[in-house]
Amino acid sequence: MPELPEIAVRACEMKQALVGKTIRGIEVLQPKCLNIPEETFVEALTGARLLDVVSHGKWLFIETTQGWLLLNLGMGGEILLVTRDRLPEKYRLVFDFDDGTCLAVNFWWFGYAHFARDLADHSMVSQLGPDFMSLTPGEFRELLRGRRGGIKSFLLDQKRIAGIGNVYVQDPLFKAGVHPLRPIHTLADDEIEALYRAFRETLQESIDRGGSHWELGLHGEPGRWGSDFFLVAYREGQPCPTCGTEVVKIRTGSTSGFVCPHCQPLA
Ligand SMILES: [Zn+2]
Repeated sequence: MPELPEIAVRACEMKQALVGKTIRGIEVLQPKCLNIPEETFVEALTGARLLDVVSHGKWLFIETTQGWLLLNLGMGGEILLVTRDRLPEKYRLVFDFDDGTCLAVNFWWFGYAHFARDLADHSMVSQLGPDFMSLTPGEFRELLRGRRGGIKSFLLDQKRIAGIGNVYVQDPLFKAGVHPLRPIHTLADDEIEALYRAFRETLQESIDRGGSHWELGLHGEPGRWGSDFFLVAYREGQPCPTCGTEVVKIRTGSTSGFVCPHCQPLA
């Protein structure tokens, strides 16, 4: 599932490759991923010139001369810049450009391709918290102030902070020595600072390597970050890289957590 690094990398690639192109036609094979009727969507974006591409958490915001195209890959998918004679085997949407290239969008399960005249009009996007990479240490501390739930569920809540999912949440908690179920109000300032630094480090490390190798880039190449970089994430039964204690898998609400019981004590 793509998280902040993959989407940040995709936005960067798309900005470089797509800005200046004009959408000449749109083919929709999965109308249920749209937020408006297919005909309205096609009409709204046909003739639009692409002005900018930015990411916000797990969303891609594509600014055009006629409004915004908002993409969210959900559980995963590909956004490939190709030509009509080189379309991938699976795709749900194709945006044809004036120069003969096209953008083929595939969702592995279900994703969103939404249109909004204005970002503020879009209910899902207007409810998003700040993108983690845009936060300063002080802003991060402020977001946590007065919160009483568990730290992991807070970090995964896109309305609080956008971009972190169940893959990237695991190792920063370990690096900071914080158990995923720790109540937020019990965290000391130095633990919050350590969490902030650990998340920045892990997310940036993946961004620098083009995101995870489970996802393909705009030109079809996989990212170079993956399970080799995991410390305790998905390493149940293996020794903790710091102290050698066996890593355990625990339930954390509806998700799983991977912790070293020695380095991340709950109490
Ligand atoms: Zn340990």
